Formats: sequence, structure tokens, C-alpha cells
Amino acid sequence: MSEKINVRGLNFDNVTVEEAVDMMIKNAKEGKQTSVFTPNPEIVQMCIDNPEMYDVIGKGDMILPDGIGVVKAAKILGTPMKARCPGFDCGKRLISFSGKENLKIFFMGSKPGIADEAAAKMTEEFPDAIFVGTNDGYFKKEGEENDAVVEKINASGADVLFVCLGAPAQEKWINANRDRLPNVKVILALGGSLDGYSGNVKRAPKVFIKLNLEWFYRLLCQPSRIGRMMKLPKFLFGTIAYKKQLKKEAKKAKRSK
Ligand code: UDP
Repeated sequence: MSEKINVRGLNFDNVTVEEAVDMMIKNAKEGKQTSVFTPNPEIVQMCIDNPEMYDVIGKGDMILPDGIGVVKAAKILGTPMKARCPGFDCGKRLISFSGKENLKIFFMGSKPGIADEAAAKMTEEFPDAIFVGTNDGYFKKEGEENDAVVEKINASGADVLFVCLGAPAQEKWINANRDRLPNVKVILALGGSLDGYSGNVKRAPKVFIKLNLEWFYRLLCQPSRIGRMMKLPKFLFGTIAYKKQLKKEAKKAKRSK
């Protein structure tokens, strides 16, 4: 178990990418089913705006800080975290251990064909990785269509399942279906990662990543994301205000003692 740090109502694991993946592998070896959610500031803000979402996102067994904004908020709140833990990187590192640890992987999500392309690209990069199946993310998430996908995953013998439907659909799907996937040990909610692994969406150049400006690169490539991204300043300014409020309340409590 790692240390948990509460950032605006979600308990994040205070781990590096390496530690997070070690934990996933350990849990898989012990047969402990583990769901992994990777909320970015946009998703934390979604919880703040719609508190019922805490029940959805907060159910992750591991909750990793995907965006630099979450790490910055932890610092503002006086409980700094070790590192940013991008879901994309965690997923890729787990794939790199697939052959060595005999972890069979299933990719689910994205538009038809993308999951297959992602598995092919990842096999080029990690030739010993074991892929046992794929499914696109455009099926009805209940009833017969959903049952068929659950059945397909079970029949594949997968140990690790990537669920890439975007938030919060992917977290909702995992919470609703994990009990029906008893042999899948690690279930990750990884947003647009398959689009990235397949090469259909390019990751930001290294310089942007180094300067923590990956979000800006994504905005340049997809200006339509501006609405979603405005949640980031809302989240950070909101966190500063929240911290001030906490301080005020602490002072008041001290005075009334
Ligand atoms: N998607 C899907 N099924 C749906 C809706 C979306 O598989 O019904 C996929 C979509 O094709 C994309 C991913 O979910 O690959 C969401 O990507 P986005 O970049 O919006 O997610 P983020 O990483 O920002 O959470």
C-alpha cells in the first residue's frame, strides 16, 4: 500500500510511474484485482462541480495524478506529491513488462481498428508483449452488446485490461463490470491512450513534456478542447481559494479553543 494524499476530495497514491507499475504487477501476481484510475485536473474539477462523481472516480483502487495540475494543487494544499503519473506512461511501462511477467493484455476502446493498430505498434516496440484481444469502444454499455464484450474479454484469458472510453464513461464501465471479469487482475482507465499508442494522435514533443506544457500542445493540435481545458485554471484558482478557506477555519477553531 502506498501513502495516499487527498487532493480536493480524491485520495491519490503518492507514487512515481515506476512504483505505480510495480504495485500493479505485484497485485496481479497476488491475484488481487486492481482498478487504476488516472484523473487529471479536468476530472477532479468535474467531481467538485458534480459531487456524485466522487463515488465513481473515488472507487479506483489506485488513483494516480495524470496531470501536472493535480501535483501543483497538492503542493498548494501543503501536501506535496512525488511526481506526476501519466496514465499513458504507466500503461506503456506495464506493456513493457508483459512478456517478462507473463501478463496477457486486452485493449478495449477507441474507434474501430485503433485498438488493433495500437497492439501492432506496441508489439513492434516490445516484441515479447502478449496481446490476447481487442475491442473498439463504440458498443452499447449495457444489455446483450455489453455482455458479448465482457464474454470476449473473459474468453481471451486477459490478465490486464485497458479501458479507453474517456472519462467518466470508462470509470463507470469498470465499476459496473469488474465483478464479471474475475480473472482480470489489473483494469486501467486510460482515456485516449490507444489513440496515442497507435500513432493516430501524436504525443507532445519532449520539450513540451519537460516544461510541463503537454496540455498546451494538445490545445494547439485540438483547439476544440478549449472548453474542457478552461477547467484547469478553475481548478487551480479554486484550490488556492479552498486553501485560504481552510486556513481561515483553522484560525477560527484555534481562537475558539
Ligand atoms: N471513446 C470510445 N467510446 C465512446 C466514446 C469515446 O471508445 O463511446 C474513445 C475515443 O475514441 C477516444 C477516447 O475514448 O479514443 C477518449 O479520448 P479523450 O482524449 O477524450 O480522453 P482523455 O484521455 O482526455 O480522457
